[in-house]
Amino acid sequence: MKVLVINSGSSSVKYQLIEMDGERVLCKGIAERIGLEGGRLVHRVNEEKHIVERELPDHDSALRLVLEALTDEKIGVIKDLSEIDAVGHRVVHGGEKFTGSVLIDEDVIKAIEEVTPLAPLHNPANLMGIKATMKLLPGVPNVAVFDTAFHQTIPPKAYLYAIPYEYYEKYKVRRYGFHGTSHRYVSKRAAEILGRKLEELKIITCHIGNGASIAAVKYGKCVDTSMGFTPLEGLVMGTRCGDIDPAIPFFIMEKEGISPQEMYDALNKKSGVFGLTKGFSSDMRDIEEAALRGDKTAQLALDIYHYRIAKYVGAYAAAMNGVDAIVFTAGVGENSPITRRDVCSYLEFLGLKLDEKKNEETIRGKEGVISTPDSKVAVLVVPTNEELMIARDTKEIVERMRGKCC
Ligand code: ADP
Repeated sequence: MKVLVINSGSSSVKYQLIEMDGERVLCKGIAERIGLEGGRLVHRVNEEKHIVERELPDHDSALRLVLEALTDEKIGVIKDLSEIDAVGHRVVHGGEKFTGSVLIDEDVIKAIEEVTPLAPLHNPANLMGIKATMKLLPGVPNVAVFDTAFHQTIPPKAYLYAIPYEYYEKYKVRRYGFHGTSHRYVSKRAAEILGRKLEELKIITCHIGNGASIAAVKYGKCVDTSMGFTPLEGLVMGTRCGDIDPAIPFFIMEKEGISPQEMYDALNKKSGVFGLTKGFSSDMRDIEEAALRGDKTAQLALDIYHYRIAKYVGAYAAAMNGVDAIVFTAGVGENSPITRRDVCSYLEFLGLKLDEKKNEETIRGKEGVISTPDSKVAVLVVPTNEELMIARDTKEIVERMRGKCC
């Protein structure tokens, strides 16, 4: 079975075509600058990169270009679009309605539209990708895989905020959490690497990329996560502030005479390590390099960044009354021995012992255990693969549907 995975953003469509027999990526790429000047497609087959330049006024034209590339005589990987058996879509917000992946029909589209106020930037873009696919590949089943779904097992004591209850009732203000597909994938993979059952493990998964979140996964189910009502809560990120005193925005808005929207932008786009380093960089490679050169501001930003991660790991060890494994993933988690070492140095009280050599060596897509054999808590690096998780869900749902109907 061949599954096309689509991640449709406001100005780009990322895609992968995966042969599920052997889980091989046949090609992947991105159609970018949709609705802007200079539209183009970057299409990769194995290590080869092909660029097609074409104006892309909307998502329909972007997807049409993707489908052309897939079937192109020179750069294509299939002869005919009929070889695509199913399409899996990443959808950012599923609200309280979606606790797992679903086959898309008119009702599902309506339900995704209904939760749009909770993700005004993302859900409309995801829907444009879904609608364009339905139009261009009629008859091919589409599956929605939600970033929030894995976190729907979080109990009320962890998802409710201590604000007037009516805001939850009226507007569904609560913790949702994000990066769910990544947390689900790496927790499952960690159990496989350890040769243990997921259902017997307490795992803390640290998705540390430009956006970052942590999840407490107890016996295979998520019981807490650091992102909340929006992806602004929790860890210090590239440009996002993470946890702060909620009174701070009101204080600053009054002092600076700025609007709620301006304040919101400052917390989302000008804060995090970017804000802490006075606008020097949001990229952790730059921050690490500067800190190594002796830059005190960068070192402090790095210390704050690591300290927050360690605090969350400690909190989640308490939430689960123990922890068997800690998993690092995403750009920083997969590539930065410095971050992993500093975070783990706070956690020696748990009996955690890092293997320094393995920590240094496990970078650039490598996976494995980086703690010592006698460590009481296993520490792992697992490169995330949200696309594969989306493709697996899609295959499972489509096979179940076919089993039922034929
Ligand atoms: P997102 O998907 O949220 O945009 P990624 O998971 O791609 O983010 O992670 C991007 C982050 O990973 C950037 O801050 C980048 O600097 C960081 N990163 C990548 N490689 C390294 C490295 N070798 N050392 C430290 N940080 C790294």
